[in-house]
Amino acid sequence: MNIPLVDLKAAHEEVADEVRAGFERVLAATAFIGGDEVRLFEREYADFGGVAHCVGVANGTDALELALRAGGVGAGDEVVLPANTFIATAGAVARTGARPVLVDCLPDNFLMDHQAAADAVGPATRAVVPVHLYGQCAAVAELAAGLPERVRVVEDAAQSQGATRDGRSPGSGGIAATSFYPGKNLGAYGDAGAVLTDNEELAARVRATANHGGVAKYRHDVPGFNSRLDGLQAVVLRAKLARLADGNAARRAAAARYDALLADLAAAGRVVLPSTAAGNVHVWHLYVVRIAGADRDDVVGKLNAEGIGAGVHYPAPVHLTPAYRHLGHRRGDFPNAEEAADRILSLPLYPQITADQQQRVVDALADALL
Ligand SMILES: *Cc1c(COP(=O)(O)O)cnc(C)c1O
Repeated sequence: MNIPLVDLKAAHEEVADEVRAGFERVLAATAFIGGDEVRLFEREYADFGGVAHCVGVANGTDALELALRAGGVGAGDEVVLPANTFIATAGAVARTGARPVLVDCLPDNFLMDHQAAADAVGPATRAVVPVHLYGQCAAVAELAAGLPERVRVVEDAAQSQGATRDGRSPGSGGIAATSFYPGKNLGAYGDAGAVLTDNEELAARVRATANHGGVAKYRHDVPGFNSRLDGLQAVVLRAKLARLADGNAARRAAAARYDALLADLAAAGRVVLPSTAAGNVHVWHLYVVRIAGADRDDVVGKLNAEGIGAGVHYPAPVHLTPAYRHLGHRRGDFPNAEEAADRILSLPLYPQITADQQQRVVDALADALL
């Protein structure tokens, strides 16, 4: 039996009846864009996420772009972000017209080095984008304390739905963007995303910009575009949101089980286990180990050949991708991010994973490391 990286089929089975009933409601009301389901989901997710406002949009990349634009980021500005992130973080920055300014990550937990981010701030810097990578929050409070007033913190919370750091949720007191791509902890059945904020004015600006520049029909107050959450996706998200806290708890239990199963390999120095920063409630979007003393790609290949969906998140840091070559970096500029990209490996993890499946993953990993 294959063990996927993420089991979307198992996740669907839990909500299948609810989703069908909800789809019928949307079809009966022909509420395809916006509508009751979207409004209800936005309210429910804001409550879950501990923020005053949630604005549903078309995907996570748009959410980040909209959050940056709402914060005044545009052409001629610089935005600081970590070199080790999904490419969409840099893509959203580039779409605003601002120049991405990359910084390295911390060597132990791969979260953005907040001191390096503060040091990278110059006269043109308008925002910093900490990424809550793999399901735990970057040090937003420490980061914000080291920034000038004019520099906004815009959090990339695509991988951290339900995570907190020192009791604080992403977007609380500021602004965050999240993604409901199917493989995320809270996944839609297509593309979807949201902007989260306590600031009513920012929320209104995002809502208008994402709806052709205005919330009333044919009234266009600001230049906008189309990035809206649809009713069918909201049905799926509401059904899954009701199970997200339990799903995150199951992920935490599975992560702890991996820690125990991998303890011998870790003691032997063959793998380095994931590290959680103090104060973080981790939601384990990904369980990422570092391979020591073996070729990572070789190990991934052996696991995949055994039907185990190990992955790499991500194989190249932003500055070593062809898309961002123009930033003028070279190998060696961000050593922690580069080392991570060469050695990291994500093991299968999802709320429904069983102890047997995890044992099989660890046995296969031990064999691959022989
Ligand atoms: C998934 C993801 C995004 C983008 O989300 P999409 O919905 O795919 O546009 C942005 N940043 C990070 C860190 C992500 O993991």
